[in-house]
Amino acid sequence: MIRLENLSVTYPGGLTALSPTSLEIRRGETTVLLGASGAGKSTLLRCLNHLNRPTSGSVRIDGLGPLSRRENLLAHRRRTGMIFQQHQLIGRLTALRNVLTGRLGFHSTWRSLFPLPHEDQCVALEALERVGLLDKALERVGNLSGGQQQRVGIARAIAQRPAIILADEPVASLDPHTASRVLDLIRRICTEDGIPAVVSLHQVDLARRFADRVIGLAAGRVVYDGAAEELADID
Ligand code: ADP
Ligand code: ADP
Repeated sequence: MIRLENLSVTYPGGLTALSPTSLEIRRGETTVLLGASGAGKSTLLRCLNHLNRPTSGSVRIDGLGPLSRRENLLAHRRRTGMIFQQHQLIGRLTALRNVLTGRLGFHSTWRSLFPLPHEDQCVALEALERVGLLDKALERVGNLSGGQQQRVGIARAIAQRPAIILADEPVASLDPHTASRVLDLIRRICTEDGIPAVVSLHQVDLARRFADRVIGLAAGRVVYDGAAEELADID
C-alpha cells in the first residue's frame, strides 16, 4: 500500500504543479496517471521516489520505513524500480551490464562488485528471461530496437526486486503496437509479483486498456479517479 496524504508541490517561482492530494494505491494494482503534458504527472511520480521534496504532506510506502533517516532514503531508492521514457540505458554496454546496474544499490561499495557476485548475475539473467531477452544478454543495448531497449529498462527495474514500479511515460517514444506490448509486460510482472505499478500516460485509449485504475490529472488536480473501463472518451 502507498499512502499519499495532502501531498502538494509548489515550485520555486510559485507554480503549483500539484494541489493537495490524498490517495491510496494498493498492491498488485496497475494505476495509470493520465493527463496532458504539464498536468503534474512527473511531479507526482518524483514525489513517490523522493526526487521531489513535497511542499506539504507525505508519502508512505508499506514495507519501507519513514523517510526521516538517510539510510531509509537509500532503501527507498533501491527498492523503487524506475522505468523512463528514454529508458536511460547505456548504449555501449550489453543488456546484461545495464540490467546489473539495477543491483548497484544492494552493494555498499563498488569493490564488492568485483568480481561480480554470482547472485547478482543470476538475478539479472532471470530478469532478462522474464522480458523475453535472454538471447540478447550479451548484445550492446545500442544495437537493440526501441521496444527491446525498453524491455531491458523493465528488466533493470525487476533486478532491483522492487517494492513498487514507477514508469514515467514509458511508451511515449514507441509505436502503438510496441507500446501495448511493453505496457502488457509491465502489467504482467506487477500482477505476478504482487507489487503496485504507477505509470504515467497521456493516451486515453492506452490507459483504458492497460490500467486497473486511472487517476486523471489536470493542472495539478485529480479530476478523475476510478476504474479504467468507466473512463469516458474525455481528454
Ligand atoms: P507532466 O509530467 O504531466 O507533463 P510535470 O509534473 O512535468 O507535468 O509539470 C507540471 C507543471 O510543473 C508544469 O507546468 C511544469 O512546467 C512545471 N514544472 C515541472 N518541473 C518544474 C521545475 N523543476 N521547476 C518549475 N516548474 C516545474
Ligand atoms: P521490438 O522491440 O523489435 O518491437 P517485439 O516486441 O516485436 O520487438 O518482439 C521481438 C521478439 O521478441 C518477438 O519475436 C517476440 O516473440 C519476442 N518477445 C517480445 N516480448 C516478449 C516477452 N515478453 N517474452 C518473450 N518473448 C517476447
